[in-house]
Parts: sequence; C-alpha cells; structure tokens
Amino acid sequence: MAHDTIYDFAIMGGGVVGCAVAFEASRSPEIQSFVLLEKYAAVAQVSSNVLANAETLHQGAKETNFPFVKALEMKRRSDQLIEYLVTRGKGVYRKMPSMVIGVTPEEVQKLEARYEMLKPYFPDLEFIRGERIGAIEPKVMEGRNEEEKKRIVALYSMGYAVDYEQLAQSFMREAAEEAEVLGKTFDVFFRTKARTITRGDDGLYVITTNRGTFRAKVIVVCAGPYSLGFAQKLGHPKALEYAILPAAGSFYYIPRKVLNGKVYTVQDDHIPFAAPHADRAVYNEHETRLGPTTIILPFFERYHFSTLLDFIRMGLVSPGAYMRTVCRILLDARFRLFELKNILYNIPWLGKYLFMRWAAKKIIPTIRMRDLHFGRGMGGIRPQLLNLVTRELEMGIGKFVGEFGIFNVTPSPGASSCMGNAIEDIALVESLLDEWERRYGRR
Ligand SMILES: Cc1cc2nc3c(=O)[nH]c(=O)nc-3n(C[C@H](O)[C@H](O)[C@H](O)COP(=O)(O)OP(=O)(O)OC[C@H]3O[C@@H](n4cnc5c(N)ncnc54)[C@H](O)[C@@H]3O)c2cc1C
Repeated sequence: MAHDTIYDFAIMGGGVVGCAVAFEASRSPEIQSFVLLEKYAAVAQVSSNVLANAETLHQGAKETNFPFVKALEMKRRSDQLIEYLVTRGKGVYRKMPSMVIGVTPEEVQKLEARYEMLKPYFPDLEFIRGERIGAIEPKVMEGRNEEEKKRIVALYSMGYAVDYEQLAQSFMREAAEEAEVLGKTFDVFFRTKARTITRGDDGLYVITTNRGTFRAKVIVVCAGPYSLGFAQKLGHPKALEYAILPAAGSFYYIPRKVLNGKVYTVQDDHIPFAAPHADRAVYNEHETRLGPTTIILPFFERYHFSTLLDFIRMGLVSPGAYMRTVCRILLDARFRLFELKNILYNIPWLGKYLFMRWAAKKIIPTIRMRDLHFGRGMGGIRPQLLNLVTRELEMGIGKFVGEFGIFNVTPSPGASSCMGNAIEDIALVESLLDEWERRYGRR
C-alpha cells in the first residue's frame, strides 16, 4: 500500500534523538508536513529506554576523556536540552549532586589541570576535597584509608539525571500539540519498520516498510547503528568509510539509596566510553546503579539476538578493513587492558567480585559483594563508529549528510546531545527543503 501524502520530511527511528527532531520540526515555519516511523510499538524502546542507559545529562566538564573542544561542544548542546527540561520537561528529570572523583595521584593531577582549563567556561564547577566530598556524598568517604582521605579531590556541581524514555514521550506530546496549533500534518506510525530507502527521478525518497511505502522530500534517519547501513546503501561515500563496533554496557544495582547523586571516576583520554560510575536511579530514588561495563558484542540491540545478522551484514560491506581496524584497536595496549577488565566483569560470580574490587570500591569503599545485584534486562549497545580509513575508534556521535538526507549515529552522549542535534538537523532540513523546491518545484 502506498501512502498518499508527500511529506516535507520523514524521520526514521523513535528514540530520543528522532523524537527531539520531531519536536523541533513542529516549531519550524518552513516545515508543513512530517512523519515519524518507528519499528516498535512505542518510542524509546532501544538505547533511549530508561533501563538501557546511565540517565546522565553529560555536560562536558566531568567527562575526563573528552578534550577541551568536545567538552565545550557538549556544554552547548546540554544547555539546549536543559532549556527544554526546565520549561517543558516536568517529571522527566531530577537535579542532583554530580561529581567526578580523583583518587590516585595521577587522577588528582588530571582533575586539577582539567579544572584550571575549564573553570572559565563552567562557572558552577567547583574543585573540592575530602571533607566537602563527605558532606555531599558521605558514602564516598566512609571506610576510605587515611592516605586517600587526604588526597581525594573532585570536580563538583549540581547535575541532571534524565529519564530519556519519558523525555522522548514528552517530545512527542509537545510536537503533536505544536503541530495541531500550527495546522501542520504530523503523522506517527508505530510497528513500522523501514526496509529499504530509495530515491526516484522525481527527487522523492521512497521508504518501503511492512506497512506500505512512504514518500518524502527529505529524510532524517535516527535509527542508531542502522542509520549508517541506510547511508551506505544509498551510496553515501563518507559512510562507506565507517563501520560499527557495538559496545554493550551492563549495570549492577544496589536495591537501596546509597548516594545522593552521581559519582563518576576518571577515564583515560583515549577510551570513548564513560568510566564506571554510581548513580541514584532516576526512576527510583531507593536504587543505586553502578556501571556500565563495556564489552564488545556482535549485536545491534541488547537481548535481541536476531540483530546478529544485521551486524554481520553491515560488517560485510568491507570485511577486510573491518577486521584490520578491530585488530588494531584491540592490540593497543591501553585499550586491551580496559577491555580485558571488562570481559572479566562479565564472568558469572568472579565478574561481580572483580567489579566490586576494581570499580565499585573506588567509589563506595564500604560496598560488599552481597550489596551488588546484576541488572538483568538493563543496559544496551553503544554503536561506536569505527573509521576504516584511519583505523580509529571515534568518540561521540556521528552525522552523515547526503543528498537531501541526514543520518545520525548516536553512541553516548547521544541522548544528552539530542536537543542540540535536533536544532542543527532542522536548520539543515529547512535549507535542504529550499534546495529541493528550487530543483524539483513546489509540491
Ligand atoms: C550502557 C549505556 C549507557 C549510556 N549512558 C548514557 C548517558 O548516561 N547519557 C547519554 O547522554 N547517553 C548515554 N548513552 C547513549 C544513549 O543511550 C544514546 O545515545 C541515545 O539513547 C541514542 O538515541 P537514539 O534515538 O539515536 O537511538 P535509540 O534510542 O536506539 O533509537 C533508535 C530507534 O530507531 C528505531 N529503528 C531502528 N531501525 C529502524 C527501522 N529500520 N525502521 C524504523 N525504526 C527503526 C529503533 O527501534 C529505535 O527506537 C548510553 C548508552 C548505553 C548503551
């Protein structure tokens, strides 16, 4: 069945990134009709689900693996989301203390230098020592030896924990209301999986799904790792230089309140994932979550084993380059050590013990084995971008812009950046629509 409407633009994927794009589209004076297609029965069922991610609004300063320029970019994008949260996001987020602690002499030095570099740009950021840390988060200091008590420092400010699933729902409600007020067409189709995307001679994209075909002048694909696959199939030359390394993250939890907020640890510069941290859960203040761990798994969606085939198919685009790039990364001594530790964390019983000794005790020294429970059904997959030309693992999110199409690949901190990303995408969509009408005429 072919749907009649020719949409100004179509969004594929109803995670928090796609829903943010829908919200921004609803406010754009240039866009009169748009559609969102989502393969599951509701929004935010994959990475943006409340159980899948760490619920942090990353703001840049405490992400110690993010260099100066990326930290400022993250601040700008997170400020754009904060503006939405305080004006329209009631019940979606909690404000809570947030810190990254430095325990070893090297970590202390790193945090000192980072504070000096970033304090002009992050006016709320404080550099604090043991006594103050203990006043904010008593459990971080309790049971720590005297030497560490004297040495420990933290970068501290109030932060935000966000339920990105509820945020996605909020974007959709607000988008529907705005669209109705402004008399726009905004259609949403759930259980609608995009199978192929092609472009006809009339300039229209044709999206074939299990529920018929949809036509649009411009497309924005926000389908996690699948965005890259669609870009590759449409022959986007830059996209062909990339592949996906799926980095699964799991969580442990303590079924009681231990912390007042979020406590991060220092991450190495070259590792694109957040170091294990402990957080008061956003959906239940009597739960403390620890993690995520990071292990490379050949799936595009956690606990959906059929996505193994999708992973293999995308890897087959350039199997030789893929294997060479993965081998190069795994042979890097620093990454190897990080990954080995994380593999060990996933071994039954021993993994829990090692996670407690090496990761959890660093944050909460009094933690015991019996406090920790493995979070079954929690966690997700971060679709990290592998650059097959430089053979590097790239940090953060990726965007491929082709002929009238935008393709977002969004590992962490993709959820924190969703509003900033949507603002950029809609500005682009507006100019692409202008160009489309110049080339193919008004329709
Ligand atoms: C363990 C872990 C911890 C994380 N912690 C944080 C954090 O603390 N802070 C942060 O900012 N980020 C974090 N992230 C990253 C964050 O979760 C993602 O960046 C964000 O959720 C991505 O949103 P998205 O909408 O792009 O993807 P998703 O939420 O995965 O949405 C993609 C959507 O596309 C749909 N889709 C896919 N293919 C098709 C198709 N063919 N047709 C139709 N629909 C399709 C899917 O069903 C899905 O709904 C974490 C991720 C993980 C795994």
